Amino acid sequence: MKKISALLLLLILFQVSFAQQRKSPAPSTKPKLVVGIVVDQMRQEYFYKFQERYTEGGFKRLMREGFMMTNGHYNYIPTYTGPGHASVYTGTTPATHGIIANDWYVRKLGRTIYCAEDSTVAAVGGSAESGKISPRNMLSTTISDELRLATNKQSKVVGIAIKDRGASLPAGHTGDAYWFDNQTGNFMTSTYYYSELPDWVQKFNDRKLAAQYLSKPWTTLFPIETYTKSIADDNAFEGPFIGMEKTVFPYDLPKLMENNGGFGLIGTTPFGNTLTLDMAYAAIKGEKLGQRGVTDLLAISFSSPDYIGHRFGPTSVELEDNYLRLDRDLEQFFNYLDKEYGKGEYLVFLTADHAVADIVEFMRSENIPAGIFNTRFILTQMNGYCSMQYGEGNWILNFSNEQVFINHKLAEERKVPVETIQRDLADFLLRFDGIKEVYTATDMKRQEYSRGKAELLQMGFSHKASGDLLLILEPAWLTGFPRGTTHGTGYSYDTHVPIVLMGWKIPTGQSSRYATITDIAPTLSMLLQIRLPNGATGQPIGEILGH
Ligand SMILES: [Zn+2]
Repeated sequence: MKKISALLLLLILFQVSFAQQRKSPAPSTKPKLVVGIVVDQMRQEYFYKFQERYTEGGFKRLMREGFMMTNGHYNYIPTYTGPGHASVYTGTTPATHGIIANDWYVRKLGRTIYCAEDSTVAAVGGSAESGKISPRNMLSTTISDELRLATNKQSKVVGIAIKDRGASLPAGHTGDAYWFDNQTGNFMTSTYYYSELPDWVQKFNDRKLAAQYLSKPWTTLFPIETYTKSIADDNAFEGPFIGMEKTVFPYDLPKLMENNGGFGLIGTTPFGNTLTLDMAYAAIKGEKLGQRGVTDLLAISFSSPDYIGHRFGPTSVELEDNYLRLDRDLEQFFNYLDKEYGKGEYLVFLTADHAVADIVEFMRSENIPAGIFNTRFILTQMNGYCSMQYGEGNWILNFSNEQVFINHKLAEERKVPVETIQRDLADFLLRFDGIKEVYTATDMKRQEYSRGKAELLQMGFSHKASGDLLLILEPAWLTGFPRGTTHGTGYSYDTHVPIVLMGWKIPTGQSSRYATITDIAPTLSMLLQIRLPNGATGQPIGEILGH
């Protein structure tokens, strides 16, 4: 009797394990498509703040079906768009990949360069001034490069965004990239990629979708009085469009176009997201992405949330409406991917290139300490101080990205060691309101920091290209303008962003362990069983890999 029951038990166990195996078929050995989504300027908070009115298939689906690192951060300063996109895809920080800001001063040239500028290439399918674009300033490989190299370039990579840097940096050195041309309303590329637009891009442009989206006003998706997560639509904190006195709905887009960047106006509306996805659908069809028996990668960046966020801030009805609409666009997109590839046959990740600070005047109105840092005033003060100490002269060559470039030639002429000027100025700067800490390039080069803002600065510091002084402002202090807001600091309001993966081989769940956006690319390397990007410093997310 005992023998029989043991046998029976074995049989049952066998059947159970067999049934379990049958229930969830093992996923394919490779995903058909990897979709990288970067939302330009998204706080992790937005996943929760607006969720009551999110659909089941967009942001909430990512939370429900995907794996989310709820305490994901940027781990360097400055938190800007160029460095953000480069860091997500290279799995490292500006100290290694070299995209140290959106624009930065280059001593040798005596001018500021743009992160994706390349004077050796020209526009294709768009206006000349928007075409000198390539990823050449990025010094390390991306996960997209590694996928291409691992498959002897059989895998295709396509980067799409309204902003050129949001498309070209994620696509890496070996992928294709398309961005929006404000002048023509078309998606374009440069001779770095192609000598003429592929047929499918031409056909996409012929549909004139940007003009269509801009032919109607931007009204709220729901009745405006229901936007209770945001402050009153009419307020004095936000930056009005040219030709409008107030920052209130509805926005008459056809009329506003004339004085607010022409087709470029679409960037400051949620329809910029819709247009970006329209282009993504066209790329999937045009390049047969994920339909050729090899893993392809589609890198999408939504630029509109950033333009909207800068102008109207994170407390605005405009921003809330943007996220409600983006959620619906994402639902439609994920449904399309399900249909096209099958659930679990594609892999999506979503993150942001930075988050954002609250509007200074709004914070002040709530009695929270905040301030506007006047760069021009401080620049004059620094020049005056140096002239008094070491003799008259143009001592400061440039002050940008909260970094100061001292005139080394002049220092040499006057026989003052640069290091002395750095130290003197660092002490001098601490006299001013709003400045919390000042580090010198010499500090950055001589010692390794392992905590606090100094570590974040070092992760964003280039020994060759960064400035002589690096400033840390007090929390909620911004460089810039009285209306609207910005980002760039190492504070959590700028660093805390979504990190969520969903689909092929991704378990469901979440973790509040500290993770950084440089962990995304190494996680993908492990999943896809390909090399880490060559400068990678992030670590694979163990929770997602199941160990
Ligand atoms: Zn921005």
